[in-house]
Amino acid sequence: MKRWGMLFALMAVIGLVNVGCDSKKEEAKEKEGTTDNGGNGGGSEEAAFTYTEWNAWNGFGEGSSVTYQLQNTDQMKMWMRYTVTKKEDDKITLKNESKMDMGGKEGEWKAGTPDPKIVKKPAEAAAGGADATCPKCEKKYSDHDAPTWEDGKADVAGNEVATKTMVMKDCKTGDETKGITVSTDVPGWMTKLGQGPVTAFEAK
Ligand SMILES: [Zn+2]
Repeated sequence: MKRWGMLFALMAVIGLVNVGCDSKKEEAKEKEGTTDNGGNGGGSEEAAFTYTEWNAWNGFGEGSSVTYQLQNTDQMKMWMRYTVTKKEDDKITLKNESKMDMGGKEGEWKAGTPDPKIVKKPAEAAAGGADATCPKCEKKYSDHDAPTWEDGKADVAGNEVATKTMVMKDCKTGDETKGITVSTDVPGWMTKLGQGPVTAFEAK
């Protein structure tokens, strides 16, 4: 029962990132799901939550931005800022800028690398990946438990935001490890870039 629930959730995830794919494999999986999982629709929406760069930006409009502080010493302070400049069906264009203050002298916002940064909608590659075999446990990736997400709260640039932290279960040992923490309130969802905290954000 649990396994089918997980598989159903994973299919929902694949469905999310694979809109428009007409492969027979997808149809077969769908059929399997409806027969074995009939009437068990509840809760799948929650389980289907997943982080992809596309999902992380797709919910925000043009003009939304996020700023990360990557360096903060007396000698040097450095920030990086992404701003949504264009939204299309299959790609989102982000303006990528950085600013550096050296020895107390304030710098200017300049184009980062790459600028613009393009976030592409994931397509068929995601479905192929689910069919591949895991070298660790030798099951298909589609037979793995989908990661779960633990709800929490965090202070991001002075705002208390709801967060979700990824919890992954090792497919061989069953050990749980925590992955990234994201907030759907923040454009790009990342609450940090490496060790660099978000120092400002604007959601539109
Ligand atoms: Zn595995």
